[in-house]
Amino acid sequence: MSLTTAARSATEPHEPIRTGLSKDTLVQAFGDNLFYVQGRFREVASPYDLFMAAAFTVRDRMLELWIKSARTYKEKNSRTVAYLSAEFLIGPQLGLNMVKLGITEAAREAGKELDLDLEAILETEEEPGLGNGGLGRLAACYMDSLATLQIPAIGYGIRYEFGIFDQQIIDGWQVEKGDTWLRNGNPWEIHRPKICFPVGFGGHTEQHTDPAGITHTRWIPELVVNGVAYDTPIPGYGVNNVNLLRLWKSEAPESFDFQAFNTGNYYGAVHAKIEAETISKVLYPNDDPEVGKELRLKQQFFFVSCSLRDMIRLELSNTGTLEHFHKKFAIQLNDTHPSLAVAELMRLLVDEHLMNWEQAWDITRHACHFTNHTLLPEALETWPIELFGRLLPRHLEIIYQINQLFLDEVRVKFFEDDDRVRRLSLIDENNGRRVRMAHLAAVGSCAINGVAELHSELLKSTVMRDFHDMYPDRFHNVTNGVTPRRFMVLCNPRLARLITKVCGDNRWIRDLECLSALEPHADDSALHERWRAVKTAAKTDLSNWLGQETGIAPDPSSLFDIQAKRIHEYKRQHLNLLHVLALYEQIKNQGTDGIVPRTFIFGGKAAPGYTMAKLIIKLINAVGEVINHDPAVNGTLRVIFMPDFNVKRGQRLYPAADLSEQISLAGKEASGTGNMKFSMNGALTIGTLDGANVEIREEVGAENFFLFGMTAAEVQRRQAEGYDPYQIYSTNAQVKSLLDLIASGLFSHGDAGLFQPLVENLMYQDPFMVLADFHDYVECQRKVADAYGDPRHWTRMSILNVARIGKFSSDRAIQEYAERIWQVEPEPVSL
Ligand SMILES: *Cc1c(COP(=O)(O)O)cnc(C)c1O
Repeated sequence: MSLTTAARSATEPHEPIRTGLSKDTLVQAFGDNLFYVQGRFREVASPYDLFMAAAFTVRDRMLELWIKSARTYKEKNSRTVAYLSAEFLIGPQLGLNMVKLGITEAAREAGKELDLDLEAILETEEEPGLGNGGLGRLAACYMDSLATLQIPAIGYGIRYEFGIFDQQIIDGWQVEKGDTWLRNGNPWEIHRPKICFPVGFGGHTEQHTDPAGITHTRWIPELVVNGVAYDTPIPGYGVNNVNLLRLWKSEAPESFDFQAFNTGNYYGAVHAKIEAETISKVLYPNDDPEVGKELRLKQQFFFVSCSLRDMIRLELSNTGTLEHFHKKFAIQLNDTHPSLAVAELMRLLVDEHLMNWEQAWDITRHACHFTNHTLLPEALETWPIELFGRLLPRHLEIIYQINQLFLDEVRVKFFEDDDRVRRLSLIDENNGRRVRMAHLAAVGSCAINGVAELHSELLKSTVMRDFHDMYPDRFHNVTNGVTPRRFMVLCNPRLARLITKVCGDNRWIRDLECLSALEPHADDSALHERWRAVKTAAKTDLSNWLGQETGIAPDPSSLFDIQAKRIHEYKRQHLNLLHVLALYEQIKNQGTDGIVPRTFIFGGKAAPGYTMAKLIIKLINAVGEVINHDPAVNGTLRVIFMPDFNVKRGQRLYPAADLSEQISLAGKEASGTGNMKFSMNGALTIGTLDGANVEIREEVGAENFFLFGMTAAEVQRRQAEGYDPYQIYSTNAQVKSLLDLIASGLFSHGDAGLFQPLVENLMYQDPFMVLADFHDYVECQRKVADAYGDPRHWTRMSILNVARIGKFSSDRAIQEYAERIWQVEPEPVSL
């Protein structure tokens, strides 16, 4: 015990300094951490020092629970979920961990006593951008819910040194900047140098026969790198369970250097070290897979291999055998990125632990479960055989063997159907032979799920149709969800307080269906007034922030119309923009009479190599530049691009939105989760019947949702008939006029060529049918404007959206996985 602590305990004997939750203890602990961990006193402490001291103070309070959880799970030998994901977009941790520990109020008071601005400290935290968007954020929400539902779980992934790039907007263009999130240190992770596994690449395989006459295969890799564990605690809300997020960093084995040094090959050693450390260096900033990037395949194998070896280590230390491995672990593959787990688990069991093939296959197939996230055929991951075999020669052999046994099964079930055999094969023979990762995952898993009802149905009828014919019982739907701890309580405390007051308690935070208690108050005018005050306050906050960040502070009484998500043609930010231009044209022709003042806010990153998406960003900014400064508009419309959309910035947007834009072409968005976050915060949705929009509309009621556009079936039909966007361009005067306006150079200082690729794409190809849905969208936006002009009506709809959004908690989703897919039970942790 330090001197200061000893002196203090004489006066305040009740609470241990590292675990106590009272304001006084937090004040003392903060001072200790600033002094003894950061080595600073108040007068010279930088904002980051203050953040670090606060973070260590909160982390101290989680550690005991974390260790208790690990001990409980070990003693009870609890069935454990292993959530394998190449991305975990966890967002800043300090504020959320305080919410989960229930110390937000005490911390605020402690801050006051110390004369510290808690908001400023929270703002200092770097975003750990270890994901691209929805998929990585889903993994983070699921980690939150697993802990809150007290389900033993480990999240396994990669500790990227550089996460998703920071987006700057320069002259209206996206410019990518390296994300150096670790430069000032990361207080949440604990480095575990002893939890370290060698991972091989390349080389060749050898066979040998043991004394009993059994043939074994051995893989002799050419290159070995180490994976070292970095652990981040993930506490549940209001429970003692704290789960583990274990991320792997690649390092060169030390022996490497010595070997090379002895042979005098110093530069060779340096090169090998750099090559090894490259593996976990950077996240691929692409929503869909970049074809043929060797490093990407290395990353996938690297984290899968470390994670499986870690699970095997845990199981052997508990039971001494791997016979029940699939009973101990429920492995969830988040998309195809970790699907090498199927081949690697087989290799580890058969080659390294000398299990026979049949038993190993039985274990593997029962351990793994696969979530599919896409219907876009171009996003289905495949790897060229040549590259695959060069990097993972043993795994290719194993995949061939799995394939042979699988296709034999297919031939038995579907006699003389060679076409089907070709379609189902793990090897695509059509495009220069390639390994189909989705097929590997599907064959090696006992459950396959889509992420929204519509998506799961389309999976069965399109990309996974043959698998559904083969194994109909493996298919499930689990509609995505998001955590109300981050996306309501943390980001919208005013709304959270109001809801708690109306509901009578805060049970809704862990049981979101309790929000239905709001429903009887949907016409209560006193509630209406408070509800609107909460929204206006959030809009004012955002406006002030945007004013500082972008120079434009929009009027909080205008309709805040927000589209924040990755920039992608299928998400149709350009459809939104055409509506903006339609209003602009109306103002130019007829003045601002009858126009409901609107602030259009866009946010989202484009993949660096995605030219069209980057041009869309440029166009949004260019249109903003003109409209925001046109005296004829007179502030009636604002168009703002919020740069660098990420979890932290999203938390500013969701509470402030009146209207949530969920306008993807039907059949393209697997689920969407942004749609849920907006709706939870009282925004109304304008959307197509796509992904989870369908279910959101079912839940909140058709009359409280602005629906437009073709259905997925209509889209299919129209495309089969031969869709001709030029026909729309040439017959719809408004469409023609708007596209011509963009092409005129008005938004590009007279440079008529700048946006030509975008305009021509819409006129002649329009792969996501923007023009086909345009008319219906504009009509629907007219209804939105009318509804916004009637505050009673609008507020009622807003309240009902929140009252009926309970289904979209990630707690519900995890409950479904636990019961229907993993068969895993809660394991409460007591102190
Ligand atoms: C929720 C979220 C997404 C997903 O948004 P969609 O609208 O579902 O595409 C993407 N990025 C971030 C930072 C998010 O928080």
